[in-house]
Amino acid sequence: MVQLQCTNCGYRHTVKEGKPLPSRCGYCDRRGTWQKVKSAQDILNEVSVDKADAL
Ligand SMILES: [Zn+2]
Repeated sequence: MVQLQCTNCGYRHTVKEGKPLPSRCGYCDRRGTWQKVKSAQDILNEVSVDKADAL
């Protein structure tokens, strides 16, 4: 899952990996304000995936 945060109003929205981003913020209705937010768990997951690939 990818967590997005609107840089305009701070609204957070979660989408599935590989899905297109919503075109507008669901809260302030602005376009193109999404920024990906990484949680600590996401970073851990990516690290473990990278290690699995290396082996
Ligand atoms: Zn917004």
